[in-house]
Amino acid sequence: MKKIIVQKFGGTSVADTDKIKNVAKTVIKEKENGNDVVVVVSAMGHTTDYLVKMAKDLSPNPSGREMDMLLSTGEGVSIALLAMAIQAQGYDAVSFNAMQIGIMTENVHSKARIVDIKTDKLRKNLSEGKIIVVAGFQGVTEDGEITTLGRGGSDTSAVALAAALNAERCDIYTDVEGVYTTDPRVVPTASRLDEISYEEMLELAHAGANVLHPRSVETAKQFNVPMRVRSSFKLDNLGTLILGVNKMEIYKPVAGVAADLSQARIVVCDVPDKPGVAAKLFTKLAKENISVDMIIQSYARKVSNTNDIAFTVDMADLAKTETTLNALKEEIGLTGDIQVNNNIAKVSIVGAGMIDRPGVASTMFETLAQQGINIRMISTSEIKISCLVDKDDAQKAVKALHEVFELDCDVVAEVKGDLPNV
Ligand code: ASP
Ligand code: MG
Repeated sequence: MKKIIVQKFGGTSVADTDKIKNVAKTVIKEKENGNDVVVVVSAMGHTTDYLVKMAKDLSPNPSGREMDMLLSTGEGVSIALLAMAIQAQGYDAVSFNAMQIGIMTENVHSKARIVDIKTDKLRKNLSEGKIIVVAGFQGVTEDGEITTLGRGGSDTSAVALAAALNAERCDIYTDVEGVYTTDPRVVPTASRLDEISYEEMLELAHAGANVLHPRSVETAKQFNVPMRVRSSFKLDNLGTLILGVNKMEIYKPVAGVAADLSQARIVVCDVPDKPGVAAKLFTKLAKENISVDMIIQSYARKVSNTNDIAFTVDMADLAKTETTLNALKEEIGLTGDIQVNNNIAKVSIVGAGMIDRPGVASTMFETLAQQGINIRMISTSEIKISCLVDKDDAQKAVKALHEVFELDCDVVAEVKGDLPNV
């Protein structure tokens, strides 16, 4: 049996018809290598942003269903154009949307998860020698409703297809040359990593590195799909391979530094100190589909028998979070303030090499202190340390941490256009 390679091209790689012609060439080259090829594409250029803008012009709060109906159209354009471009270069190609294939998702609008992918149609068309072009970012529910996977979700479509088809590899083509130690626009001496583990990549993605849709990495890890992030304009460059941590050589303590500027911090003051209160609060937020990131609960004050709970949410969920908390006030007996600060950034260092290596956290705090940066919240996982700082301090923090953990290289990275998913 032939090997299956899944390739994914983001919006910038298919931004106009000349670029689509180039993508067709890259696809054909993989086919010429003797592999079966499934290509996933995003909407052209900034199409999705444009569609979002039109929706907001018409309604401050458009319904989730209609938003998904609207946004899914972007990918419908690019798949047909790419299939035509491939055909025009003399190869057999066919495009499919999620409904035609059966990319099944849960019944949630705007950030649905894929639950299953039917492979019959894909396998049949591959066996007929066709190159298959699939619309990324979209799915369909059991009831035939169109869903989308969240902004940047085409990466996840590609990895999920690779998993379902047991593909050899999933190549994510983008306009950067791979995964960098930090955003090369912030630190021009950032270096490209040859390899990174799923675990580190996930932490980096959640920490604000905008290279990949986090769920794509989760899916790759779950199904052990090797992923490669590579440049769509420098084809000889193999980019960065993302694989299981057990398959990797030894590390520096820190593999990368990232800043997430899209979070807001909320402090719920004077929360009654009794069992079940935190449970109620966070269950309610979860029910509203709001993901909470850093959480800190202070020691209870003896006199008032209350404590403060601080946490961060994505800025996009802020309005919904405030509404939810206000609605909860009476139920939990919240009498104190709810303070919101959206002028913050989460700066994180990530590395599997920090396990069992003491001193990494203290070096981070010391470095921020030397820069006069105040730390407002700290959270850690086995391979990540995040500090919440003021937004204005974020760049300074990233630069200093990148240097202290010896991630600089002598070559200045070449970045064309926007990084994906911003
Ligand atoms: N077109 C969608 C977006 O802009 C999906 C993607 O590009 O991955 O978010
Ligand atoms: Mg993307």
